[in-house]
Amino acid sequence: MDSTGEPLHVIFLPYMAPGHMMPMVDIARLFAAHGVHVTIITTKMNALRFKATIDRDVAAAGRHITLEILPFPSAEAGLPEGCENLADTPSHEMAMRLFHTIDLLQPPIEKLLRDSRPDCIVSDSFFHWTVDIALELGIPRIFFSSGGFFHHSIRYAVEHYQLHKNIHFEREPFVIPSLPDQVLITKSQLLFMGKTTTTFLELFGRVKEAEKKSYGMVANSFHALESAYADYYRKAIGIKGWHVGPVSLFNKDEVDKAERGDKATINRESCLHWLNFKEPNSVLYVCFGSLSQFSKIQLTEMAHAFEDTNCSFIWVVPKVLKTNEEVDQDEAWWLPEGFKERMEESGKGLILMGWAPQVLILEHRAIGGFLTHCGWNSIVEGVTAGLPLVTWPLFGDQFDNEKLVTQVLRIGVPVGNEEWKMCPTDETSLISRVKIHKAVSHVMDGGNEAEGMRSIVKRLGELAKEAIEDGGSSYNDLKTLMEDIKLYRQK
Ligand code: UDP
Repeated sequence: MDSTGEPLHVIFLPYMAPGHMMPMVDIARLFAAHGVHVTIITTKMNALRFKATIDRDVAAAGRHITLEILPFPSAEAGLPEGCENLADTPSHEMAMRLFHTIDLLQPPIEKLLRDSRPDCIVSDSFFHWTVDIALELGIPRIFFSSGGFFHHSIRYAVEHYQLHKNIHFEREPFVIPSLPDQVLITKSQLLFMGKTTTTFLELFGRVKEAEKKSYGMVANSFHALESAYADYYRKAIGIKGWHVGPVSLFNKDEVDKAERGDKATINRESCLHWLNFKEPNSVLYVCFGSLSQFSKIQLTEMAHAFEDTNCSFIWVVPKVLKTNEEVDQDEAWWLPEGFKERMEESGKGLILMGWAPQVLILEHRAIGGFLTHCGWNSIVEGVTAGLPLVTWPLFGDQFDNEKLVTQVLRIGVPVGNEEWKMCPTDETSLISRVKIHKAVSHVMDGGNEAEGMRSIVKRLGELAKEAIEDGGSSYNDLKTLMEDIKLYRQK
């Protein structure tokens, strides 16, 4: 509340993909915990992924959170019934259709904003058009991007120095100019023209323009992780920026952790039972986030590598690559014959085909390392759990995030992927079982270097937890953010 005596009303508009929606819902809950009246705009099937948690917040803690559920025109767009999230699209073609269908929500969302006249909109950066409606209503638009400040700083520097024109070698590492640290990357690891469709490139262009016109950016991050990059980006773009994470830590309740993001394919008890029998730091957790796909040959290489390691593992199997004609959801997952049975009988591996309770798993003392695709949320969650990382980026901001891990923070080892690719094909270069095995062993089998990484990341994990406590850096940033919104309203 401020001198008007009215609590703030903030509308949250999360994008329909787990890596965007989950952290944003956590931020919305965080606002509500500080007395803000919160509205989350979403669709029916997306709401099912987090409604139970919201209901618990409202019933048990008396929070003010309203869900505005908009009808999603799946049938009109030729999408299967209930397909409302990018994680539910079995092929690239279907993902593109979903992308366009999400655009159809613009008029009803604009109407809702005009009718309810909130004090602020926190919008996913992909909904670039919310910047115009915010200007019309005279309210601040704060954008949430699923990436962190490090990625945004790289993106800014690449554009500012026109690196796509000035760098001529695909696979020769070069230093990105002007960043606070020396960061090496190759052209083949950056998103450039020709690597994705024009639809995406146009979208990214509009997203960037809207970011510059926004009031600020809120991120799932914390001071000790990338503060120099938060400063760099704020200065470069000239907007405000607040880090309020790690937002997954806001899920203190065991049920919230186990159900975060979707209904898990394994129940909490079975998962903890399997882990409880393992020695501390003896299990590698492998997960490629919510959208990644691999060819059958690459999955075979992974399976062999994990079977040959000295450690146990939990593998959240990514979906198998589908051609457009081949979209049978029942065959979403694939593994070499007999592999799952063999691993489970010997107790070496727990294979999960479907949604994993990631945060619950990561914080178990048996987990000793995390092989990740470097989605930003996964990086933050892995660091928060104090785990050294094996990095296997694929597309999006993932290669940038890898460089933060391996070159700046020095808490991880790369498997050595060199090619940014959104839709891999059977021709995409393979990461061999030898390379995978080497990177995993480096992290899991001890040695001075591995112990060094472990102690740095353990300290970062402690700082992550301190950041959200009363008086911590993220706690203070959240308070400042809410004060800034109140000041905007008074003006
Ligand atoms: N996640 C999960 N279970 C899964 C897969 C993913 O809980 O089986 C969560 C994970 O904890 C993270 C989010 O989904 O919070 C994925 O976001 P990230 O930015 O890491 O990757 P993306 O899916 O956007 O590529």
